[in-house]
Parts: sequence; structure tokens; C-alpha cells
Amino acid sequence: MNVSSTTVGQSKPRVIVIGGGFAGLNVVKGLKNSHVSIVLVDRCNYHLFQPLLYQVATAELEPAYIAAPIRSILRKQDNVQVALGEVTAVDLAERLVHFDGGQLAYDYLVLAVGVRQSYFGHDEFRRHAPGLKSIDDALEVRRRVLLAFEEAEWEASDEARRAKLTFVIVGGGPTGVELAGAIIDVATRTLPKEFHNIDTKTARVILIQGGERLMPGMPDDLASRAHRTLEKLGVEIRLHTRVTEVTEEGVMIGDEHVDAENVFWAAGVQGQPVAQTLGVPLDRAGRVIVGPDMAVADHPEVFVIGDAASATDAKTGRPVPGLAQGAIQTGRFVANIIRSEIKGSKVGNRPAFSYYDKGSMAIIGRGNAVAAIGKTHFGGFLGWLTWSLVHVMFLVGFGNRLLVMSQWYWNYVRNSRQARLITGDPHIHIKQVRSAIPEKHVTVSDARETANDSV
Ligand SMILES: Cc1cc2nc3c(=O)[nH]c(=O)nc-3n(C[C@H](O)[C@H](O)[C@H](O)COP(=O)(O)OP(=O)(O)OC[C@H]3O[C@@H](n4cnc5c(N)ncnc54)[C@H](O)[C@@H]3O)c2cc1C
Repeated sequence: MNVSSTTVGQSKPRVIVIGGGFAGLNVVKGLKNSHVSIVLVDRCNYHLFQPLLYQVATAELEPAYIAAPIRSILRKQDNVQVALGEVTAVDLAERLVHFDGGQLAYDYLVLAVGVRQSYFGHDEFRRHAPGLKSIDDALEVRRRVLLAFEEAEWEASDEARRAKLTFVIVGGGPTGVELAGAIIDVATRTLPKEFHNIDTKTARVILIQGGERLMPGMPDDLASRAHRTLEKLGVEIRLHTRVTEVTEEGVMIGDEHVDAENVFWAAGVQGQPVAQTLGVPLDRAGRVIVGPDMAVADHPEVFVIGDAASATDAKTGRPVPGLAQGAIQTGRFVANIIRSEIKGSKVGNRPAFSYYDKGSMAIIGRGNAVAAIGKTHFGGFLGWLTWSLVHVMFLVGFGNRLLVMSQWYWNYVRNSRQARLITGDPHIHIKQVRSAIPEKHVTVSDARETANDSV
């Protein structure tokens, strides 16, 4: 993007919103009928429904089903312009937002850039252990999961085959739990009939959690239920355990080395680099510390919302959780403030943000979920139905809702996963090939001469 513009001479105040996730979109929509000129900037041209990313990663849904073009979502809103671009820095003193090729001035700025995966200072793990924050991440996880079975099918070395069929998921929060349940489902229900040289049910799925229980954000009874259900499905759960090394060959889990070619990271978040350019206090995870009005210290015209903010619930004093509801509610809250101030309300009259907890849920394998709604906790198929309804309701776009529902129905009744395309690098890496397969598709790393000898 190449722009250079100031607000001088503009008849309407300019609001720049950076990020078209739940938080950013809700600010923009909340200002629909306001006398402002909005610019929504995002480095992606689509809004992504992250809660269903793990279903893309495990071949249940197509990527486009869980994303919608931002321009299309906002096509009926006249006071907003959409800009595709990566914001590199914000100059609070000059009130300027910097892009790769230009800058834009603002009267109000709303930073809604979300968070990225944290490897707790071990960024070198990223290469061997992709996270799950974007469509690209999900496609990479899907590629690795599907390729693992393809390679194992033709791998003659027992040891190498075991490593290929070992999946380690680091992080026992909802994402790790959902991913583990889905991968074991792929291995035990989706694939068994389609492979002939291997028993896909022998795949190991290991879920590693540093804390004393799974899903610390959920009530105890539901976390225990999820734990039991996953174990019944065949997932090995290691609590109080940390991964200290990840290489191409496997992971160090405490003092134990586990040969595993598939490691996925679902264990922590950190703020986006652009947050550092504000020059304001950040919390330990690099999120921007905001006041009760979600504004940055000494800059009432700059708000940070959603996952990018380190905010406190004014009523309970607890941190506002990094969940879709936190993003939606802080987005609406800030839109209300801007709307009132455009009409003449004073900064001193701003309310304090208070989070309304609508509940939490997580899928535990096929047709099974746990849910906490108020004081009611439940699980099983009813939990799954509730989870499905809520997630479909919050998906953006009527077409996407229909597509997702019909795909779920089809997958459920057919016991299948339709989105099983291996994209990206399709090469398979096999140590000892079981029998002849076209050479151009295979990288035989050693023992080529032993090929064909052990089927
Ligand atoms: C795998 C996964 C599963 C989840 N499951 C659940 C769940 O079941 N329930 C739940 O409530 N929550 C869940 N969450 C959390 C929820 O998705 C987030 O809390 C929510 O998406 C946060 O919204 P946001 O708008 O703050 O950030 P995001 O949705 O992350 O949006 C940030 C936007 O900013 C853009 N951006 C970032 N940096 C820049 C830049 N420098 N310049 C321009 N644009 C930029 C990004 O492209 C993105 O569009 C899950 C998250 C993940 C990753």
C-alpha cells in the first residue's frame, strides 16, 4: 500500500482500525451510522474464524469455509474504506500509522491486531513445530498430518514408521485438546480402511501440558471429563511436563526423548511486533496494557482491543480473556465511546469495560464436546450440538454457515473428512521403501539399495 495522507481539512474525524478480526470488525460495525470516516487496515484480505482452524488442520473443513473477504463483509457500510497492508509502526506523537510504502493520519486509532504464537524464547522450534494461528499454519499442519500416513504406508523401517506415526501436541489448552482429539479421530476412524501396509490405529498422539490439568480456563469438572474422554480415545496425556527441545527427529519431554516427526505447537501467545512500536507499557506476553476505557496511557485517542490488549475487567478485577467474546465485546465498547464523543461527550465521562462471560466450550473428538454456560456444565453429544450451533452462529457469512453445516453433516454420517488435500511440498521422505513407487515423488534418505526387500 502506498499512501500519504493527513486528516487536516477533513470534515469527518478519521478512525483507523488496524485488524479485521472479531475486535476490529465489531468497532467498524459499531460505527456504521456515525459521522466518521473509517479506514480498516488488515494484512489479509479476509476475516478469519480462528476457532475452527483446527478443523481445517485436520481436513474436516476447507479453508474458505471459515474465512470471508473483509470487503464483502463491509460492502454495505458507506463510511468505511478497506486497505490491504501490513502496518509496521505507529507514531503516537504525530498520530500517524506507517505502512510498507506510506502513512495515514488519524483522529482515533484502534489497534486490533490479535496475537501470534509464542515459543517461549525458542523460536528455533517453529520450524519443526508449526503453530495454529492462521490459514497457512492450518494448511501446514494438515499437510504434515496427511503426509505422515502416506510416508508411513511405504516405510519399511519399523523405527522410522513409528516416528512418522507419532504426533506430539504441545499445549493442553482448548486448541491442543481439540487438535489431539481430531488427529486421533483421523487415525482411528477416517483412515484405517484406506491404508493397506499400516494399521493407522497404531498412531500415537501425545498431548503435553505444563500445568496440573488440561484447559486451565475451563471449570475443573469439564477439564477432568475432557481428560478422561481423550484417554479413552487413545490420546496419551502428560501433565506437569515441558518440552525442552524440538528437532526434526523428535522432542525432549522432560528427560525423555520421543521419536516423533510430527510436532504441533499450541502453547502460548505473544503480542504482535507492531505493539512494541507504540512505546507504551506491555505485559510479559507483549500485549498492550490498557486502562479501563481500553485506551493507552496518556493517549485517549488510541485504543487497543481484543487479544492484543492486556485489559482488566472493571467489575471482577480479573484479566479479560483472550477469547472471541473478549474481542467482540471490547470492539463494541470502544465503538460506543467513539460514537458518544463524536456527538460531544467528554473523555472524562468514559465508562469502564466489564466482561460478560457467556461461557466456554471445547470439542473432544467426534460428536463430543464439553461446555460451561453460566453454572451449567455439560458434555457429550449435547455439548457437541451446542458447540456446533454457537460456532455456526458466530461464523461470518450465510454461505459459510450453510457450507460448514452441510460439511459437518456429511462428515458425520459418512465418518469421513473431505478436505484431505496435501498442499505445499508434496514430497515424501522415506528411509527404506517397502516396494516400488515412482522415484520422483520419493526422497530416499538412505538404504536405497534395501528398497523392495521387506514388504
Ligand atoms: C486455533 C484457535 C482456536 C480458538 N478457539 C476459540 C474458541 O473456541 N472460542 C473462543 O472464544 N476463542 C477461541 N480462540 C480465540 C479467538 O479466536 C481470539 O480471541 C479472537 O480471534 C481475537 O480476535 P482479535 O480481533 O483480537 O484478533 P484476530 O482475530 O487475531 O485478528 C487480528 C487481525 O489483525 C491483522 N493484523 C495483525 N497484525 C497486523 C499488522 N501489523 N497490520 C495489519 N493487520 C494486522 C490480522 O491479519 C488479523 O486479521 C481461538 C484461537 C485460535 C488461534
